[in-house]
Amino acid sequence: MHDSTSDGLCSSPIVALRAHQLPATVCAAAGVECPLIDRKRAHEVLDRLGRDPTLTIRLTSPADELPHYRRVSPDSLSASSADDVFNRKRDLDVLQRLGLVPGAVRRARYLYALLFERIASLDGLCAWDTEQWCGCEHARRGAYESVRERGWATIVARRSDADRQAARLRSAKGIAAGERLFVRPHHLMCLCCWY
Ligand code: SF4
Repeated sequence: MHDSTSDGLCSSPIVALRAHQLPATVCAAAGVECPLIDRKRAHEVLDRLGRDPTLTIRLTSPADELPHYRRVSPDSLSASSADDVFNRKRDLDVLQRLGLVPGAVRRARYLYALLFERIASLDGLCAWDTEQWCGCEHARRGAYESVRERGWATIVARRSDADRQAARLRSAKGIAAGERLFVRPHHLMCLCCWY
């Protein structure tokens, strides 16, 4: 449950997802059985996102995985299956379009807004015009696009106007009653601009 006394920026809970699974959650939200993420896991993540507006996501990938300070064998540097190799590429495709790197942590709301802004369709990420391999049949059926059109709030909980107004009032009351004023350093600039 969202902690109404926190701004959620520094202490919000983190969900770890492989980068290529971020668009996969969107297809799952459209009701598609996505081969890139376990159905139960996708719906667990969607459920948390739909309840908690402060949730953050860490986008992971083994793409930059290099064993440090230990002996490296040829096996350590090779992936076990073609799917692993391809999903690593998918991770990098998604991260590149988002301008992020493996391990990046962002607020879920920001991440889905960015995803929908930068990736209009999964054509080219999940489907291709190659003779040998066309990719996923769902990529050109509009599932992702239908969620994208409705925006990030389809996936991530949006705080209600009443909730945000209540937070402002709490903050104003705290300022009025407190003996000291606690502000973030950059708020000094904000105060100047307001003034
Ligand atoms: S297009 Fe297919 S593989 Fe790609 S995210 Fe959607 S369901 Fe998954």
